[in-house]
Amino acid sequence: MANRVFNFNAGPSTLPLDVLKIVQEELLDYRGTGMSIMETSHRAPEFDEVNNQAMLLVKELMGLGDNYHVMFVGGGASTQFAHIPLNFLPKDKTAAYIDTGTWSTKAIKEAQNLGNVHLAGSSKDDGYTFVPKGAEISYPNDVAYLHLTSNNTIKGTQYLDFPDTGNVPLICDMSSDILSHQVDFNKFAMIYAGAQKNLGPSGATLVVLRDDMLEKINDGLPTMFDYRTHAEKKSLFNTPPSFTIYMVKLVLEWIKNQGGLKAIEEVNRKKKDAIYNLINEHPEFFRGPVREDSRSWMNVALRLPSEELEKKLIAEAKDAGFIGLKGHRSVGGVRVSLYNAMTLEGAEKVAEFMDNFRKNN
Ligand SMILES: *Cc1c(COP(=O)(O)O)cnc(C)c1O
Repeated sequence: MANRVFNFNAGPSTLPLDVLKIVQEELLDYRGTGMSIMETSHRAPEFDEVNNQAMLLVKELMGLGDNYHVMFVGGGASTQFAHIPLNFLPKDKTAAYIDTGTWSTKAIKEAQNLGNVHLAGSSKDDGYTFVPKGAEISYPNDVAYLHLTSNNTIKGTQYLDFPDTGNVPLICDMSSDILSHQVDFNKFAMIYAGAQKNLGPSGATLVVLRDDMLEKINDGLPTMFDYRTHAEKKSLFNTPPSFTIYMVKLVLEWIKNQGGLKAIEEVNRKKKDAIYNLINEHPEFFRGPVREDSRSWMNVALRLPSEELEKKLIAEAKDAGFIGLKGHRSVGGVRVSLYNAMTLEGAEKVAEFMDNFRKNN
């Protein structure tokens, strides 16, 4: 595959080559049906099997019990920012949110439009350079839920472990680090993630919801906004994003074939170490704006001695076949996104390239 670049885009992002090859192979004639899965009815047995397999694999890889529902819905993770308070924030209650920048800030804004919000923790005053933990998090014990963002795609911070919330339902936006390392997923009342970073192409959002949450849903919601609709109909109340679900299923199978989350975590650890070693060994050239205990494994944020050097590195990297290293327009700098589908080879090669850039500049 001589013409494939190393793609460090933050999302949509690189996909496993093995998965793309299966898609290519099956595109015109899905398993003898004489048509693409894209052209297949979402009520057909072929799609039903894909959908069921995808749901089962999510549960299997996450180690979830039967008390969880798995759904694939449209609208992106951003729509969930509103659906969560619509469903789970009653008028007479307050929801707790942790503000770790950009995406969590947007989730908070949607909740504030719909009800009462308590800020349970924030790193805003420090430029979102860490994730609040332990005593940095506080909220009344009768809140409707606590919401946090596990990986902050733009700021480059991440929760690798999560607060114990007791009876308070814990809701997490895992859009940019879902299934990238081992987590006790059973401690969450709800997990959601846009597919386009770690799960597949854009178009579907994975929602994992614990059974008891269905009983807490506010009355009077439009059918499509009510999680019960999608839980009960296995995402088939209306036409789901079927092609994306098909690709998500293939990515989940790929994760399983790699050895599941334990094996994925091992590779991801080596990948992020390759990049963070640049900061650890040459802090005069590669500055890590993020506090060490909050460093993201998925999106490594770096600053160089000047913006000119950052531009130069990004341009030279592109010519060398490493694309997507530009930091988000809101923060600048360099960002190396290391989602599951990025190979260890890709991470090591880009680290070598960056180190050579340092020597030459
Ligand atoms: C990308 C991203 C989103 C937005 O996802 P959409 O599917 O585009 O709405 C939300 N949260 C996090 C953490 C993200 O990385």
